[in-house]
Amino acid sequence: MESRRFEGKIVLVTGGARGIGRGIARRFAAEGGSVAVADRLESVEETAAELAELGGETLGVAVDVTDKAQVEALYARVEERFGRLDVSVQNAGILRISPLERLSEDEWDATLDVNVKGMFLCCQQAAALMRRQGGGGRIVNSASAQARDGFVYTPHYAASKFGVMGMTQSLAKELATDGITVNAFCPGIIGSDMWEYADRAWGDLLGDYARGELMAEWVDGIPMRRAGTPEDVAGLVAFLASDDASYITGQTVNVCGGLVMS
Ligand code: NAD
Repeated sequence: MESRRFEGKIVLVTGGARGIGRGIARRFAAEGGSVAVADRLESVEETAAELAELGGETLGVAVDVTDKAQVEALYARVEERFGRLDVSVQNAGILRISPLERLSEDEWDATLDVNVKGMFLCCQQAAALMRRQGGGGRIVNSASAQARDGFVYTPHYAASKFGVMGMTQSLAKELATDGITVNAFCPGIIGSDMWEYADRAWGDLLGDYARGELMAEWVDGIPMRRAGTPEDVAGLVAFLASDDASYITGQTVNVCGGLVMS
């Protein structure tokens, strides 16, 4: 029987217009949730319309998560439309690849702004709303295998994702007595637009790789010998947001086919 764990639940997914975020949003919608997707891409409204075909109510909001006023307006819209929020998934993130001497201050700031500050702003609004409605709720944050093991040419990205792990632990301690759990997930190599860019950018820096060749080589190093899919990640996020995970908080869980094991 198809599982409907999120019937009656309100879920928000940032970075939900495409890739992993879209996969996560689809999973919640397929399991009965009402889902708001937020993204800086205008196509977020089309994604919301697609999700509506799965049955529940949906909302698409164009927002830049690095802008406090826009983030406040986003959570206010979710509250106005659905009356509450049960699950907030902070998935929006960017990856830029650059050798140290060419890594600009702008690239550094942009990465930390989206991946860390944007997440903080969303967690702040999510927790405030969950507390106002009497406590209880799930906050789930996107980290990365790079929160375990920094890869080459991405010191800014690795710093941001280690930052996500620290923020997740700290917030889990602060929000535990409100019944709000805070956890993070670490995707490894997941087929998405981000990974297409990574294949190209790392491939150019690490050698004379044809498109797709570097990814194939790295996938070969994954114990399970395949890249992950947004659906693989969505399964973990849905579990962390479910009743079965009610005693799990402050954890950062890998979903990477064994690419990293600590
Ligand atoms: P993606 O680039 O395909 O999707 C990211 C989404 O976030 C996009 O829709 C983008 O518009 C949105 N976004 C970026 N900046 C934003 C902002 N300022 N405000 C609002 N939305 C914004 O990437 P993906 O592969 O789906 O990655 C999703 C998350 O998973 C990211 O946090 C990423 O760091 C993490 N991750 C991905 C992989 C992978 O292999 N794909 C591996 C590890 C971690």
